[in-house]
Amino acid sequence: MLEKYTALAQSALNDELLSEQDALWILDSPEVELLPLLQAAYEPRRKYFGNKVGIQILNNVQSGLCAEDCGYCTQRKDSKVPIEDYPMKSDEAILREADRAARAGASRYCMVLSGRSPGIERTRKLAGLIRRIKEETPIEVCLSAGFMDDARAALLAEAGLDRLNHNLNTSESRYSEICTTHTYAERIATIEAGKRHGLQSCSGLIVGMGEQSKDIVEIAYKLRELEVPSIPANFLIPVEGNRIVSDGSLTPQRCLRVLALLRLINPRAEIRAAAGREGHLRGLESLALWPANSIFVEGYLTTQGEGVEATYAKIREAGFEIQGNPLSAAQSKSELAAPERYQLPNLQGDSILKPTLRKQELPS
Ligand code: SF4
Repeated sequence: MLEKYTALAQSALNDELLSEQDALWILDSPEVELLPLLQAAYEPRRKYFGNKVGIQILNNVQSGLCAEDCGYCTQRKDSKVPIEDYPMKSDEAILREADRAARAGASRYCMVLSGRSPGIERTRKLAGLIRRIKEETPIEVCLSAGFMDDARAALLAEAGLDRLNHNLNTSESRYSEICTTHTYAERIATIEAGKRHGLQSCSGLIVGMGEQSKDIVEIAYKLRELEVPSIPANFLIPVEGNRIVSDGSLTPQRCLRVLALLRLINPRAEIRAAAGREGHLRGLESLALWPANSIFVEGYLTTQGEGVEATYAKIREAGFEIQGNPLSAAQSKSELAAPERYQLPNLQGDSILKPTLRKQELPS
């Protein structure tokens, strides 16, 4: 049986397309053994990314007030979820947060704006901000701001944007079930507009929204066809008040199989364990680092995630290394430096645990 996993790894290392039958086997078969599957996914991960883990920090630069109706989103029109709505943050706040993300060891700073698409003036403003961040802070800059056409993509590319995010979210045939105010084709058009202007695409999916395994396979193939170099896998966070809350499919094992599938179909892409990793992967969370080579810290658009310290400890304990950036690398004695020896938490000197010896039951 182990030959099966070796063959999966080899075919990914050779850039061969995984068959649909194998893809569905990975997601659904009771025969699958998790650890050999993760090891198979780890082989291409190691080839292209070593043991490094890229950290992204999101800044929800503009929140809520959206006219679209994406069913998974707390910011959609008519949302009753009590989130904080606000217009675009000040330039100073956006720049300050970029600097903070770099000092915290993130390799990417992802600015996200709610809404269908920025106007051309707003896009110019974003381009100016991107230029300033690139000049002042040694961090890659990503942007997720809705639909982009050629004019907008050209402005962003000229400003030095590193990646343009626009997720596919689900398969084409299911798109109208999650959103009625725009189409899947519009999403593809945005990715293609970015590519025409030399922008790297970042595009992924959200699982746990009622999709079938064949939908996940379809998205993974589509991302390969689009040659997307960065794929965030989001695990739906069930927020009370959202139209789509949970389909009950997301066990930790299911999440890991999805990550392994994405890696084996897109061996060279950055695969990110994104929103919901904390709640859905639970005790198996560190295993996500075998197929995935990047994660978010500190949270998502309107939900809190795991903090820097706890995440970095997990990464190191699993034997991986934080990718960082030139600024964090230069912080010689920073909080990012790996401790030479691990200390047991909250145990020092006299407070070290002493074993409580059990008395032997002596025969009378
Ligand atoms: S995902 Fe984006 S476009 Fe859709 S409702 Fe949320 S903020 Fe609006």
